[in-house]
Amino acid sequence: MTGTLHVVGAGLAGLACAVAAARAGRHVVLHESAGHAGGRCRSFEDDSTGRLIDNGTHLLLGVNQTALAYAGAIGGLDSMSCRTPRFPFADLTDARRWVLTPAGLMSRPWDLIRALGFPALRSDETVAGRLGKSPRFHDVWEPLCVAALNTAAEESSAPMFARLLRATLAGGAKALRPWLFTKGLSAALVEPALHTLASRGAELRFHHRLTGVAEDRLSFDGGDVALGPADRAVLALPPWRLERVMANVPSMPTRAIVNAHFRLDGMPALPGGLPYLGTTGGHSQWLSVRDDVVSVTVSAADRLAARSADDIAAILWREIAPLLGPANAALPAHRIVKERRATLAHTPAAISRRWPATTGWPKIHLAGDWLAGPWPCTIEAAVASGLSAARLATDRSDLAFT
Ligand SMILES: Cc1cc2nc3c(=O)[nH]c(=O)nc-3n(C[C@H](O)[C@H](O)[C@H](O)COP(=O)(O)OP(=O)(O)OC[C@H]3O[C@@H](n4cnc5c(N)ncnc54)[C@H](O)[C@@H]3O)c2cc1C
Repeated sequence: MTGTLHVVGAGLAGLACAVAAARAGRHVVLHESAGHAGGRCRSFEDDSTGRLIDNGTHLLLGVNQTALAYAGAIGGLDSMSCRTPRFPFADLTDARRWVLTPAGLMSRPWDLIRALGFPALRSDETVAGRLGKSPRFHDVWEPLCVAALNTAAEESSAPMFARLLRATLAGGAKALRPWLFTKGLSAALVEPALHTLASRGAELRFHHRLTGVAEDRLSFDGGDVALGPADRAVLALPPWRLERVMANVPSMPTRAIVNAHFRLDGMPALPGGLPYLGTTGGHSQWLSVRDDVVSVTVSAADRLAARSADDIAAILWREIAPLLGPANAALPAHRIVKERRATLAHTPAAISRRWPATTGWPKIHLAGDWLAGPWPCTIEAAVASGLSAARLATDRSDLAFT
């Protein structure tokens, strides 16, 4: 097959699809409505802090094998670093400190067995319904659930959480190793993909917004593209954008993530001695340090996101400043990033409405983190869906990022 593959959307799903197809020798045209690639996973130069920051702190684990293979294939792994599986925690309301490790997770076998889905789970069960009575709910299960699913434990799907936990623990300590984006998200996952595409002769069209789709035609704000007999298209758009160009897209609830980036006078040392720290007892859930910037992540943050950026900065700084030492009392230069639709809400009802990658039109397929699959909306889900769509569109089930 020698036609062109049109990939619409240069988030990670679209980039992964385009890279996989271009590496297989297919002519690719990538269309993106924004002036940059990366979608919900990108870095930008920020005036307030004078630093390159990420729209939100992202983390991969060793279990995210497709995402890591993608990063390896484009040359992005050099911009990442891998740590041992230790996750220090601090409570913001008292002096408690603890460390979560694989062995620690196993230390209460009955809790873990229930979390893994035994005895059998109902499809509508929530994480809080399943684990809310555990003495470790607030210190272990709730923070893990909110971090992994970006959804409050009271409404998160217990079967999805169990599946994630099973996949992770089955891979042993290696699968739990955190991978950090030490030079930013774009340096690892976006810029090397664009270089790979350019070097393989792909065409990149930014500021090129899809406005309509038919069986044999894509309409952009700059004009139409007819799909010839050997041409294919992959629409790598989130559901709230896809519904503008395609009928019957299910309405999917979403959840916000708020990130606060504070620039300090020097590189801070977090309790626990690692460049990341989980926190409980406040709004702040994770702290991460890159050079002289400390970033705070708040997931499932719809209520917080409704407040002004000034309020959010003051609230989060008040919570975390005591962890950074007395030298850091005054509110420093900062940037608040509200991603109002960071991911789907991973409720049992929403998960059951996720779509497959096929559209009923043989030339047009879908990609994106929100499609049906084993993973919640994550980098892994986005990259895996992009790879699957590339396989469908090229009729090459052997495509891989090896
Ligand atoms: C703050 C935050 C923190 C996160 N943390 C993590 C984490 O720690 N670990 C993890 O694995 N995942 C994390 N995620 C989730 C991860 O970022 C997403 O799952 C992933 O980036 C989704 O990629 P995507 O390609 O499916 O969608 P998107 O990134 O939304 O890409 C869609 C692209 O399509 C473009 N587009 C939209 N409409 C049109 C149109 N009409 N025409 C052309 N182009 C269009 C958009 O501009 C965008 O570039 C986080 C997300 C956020 C927001």
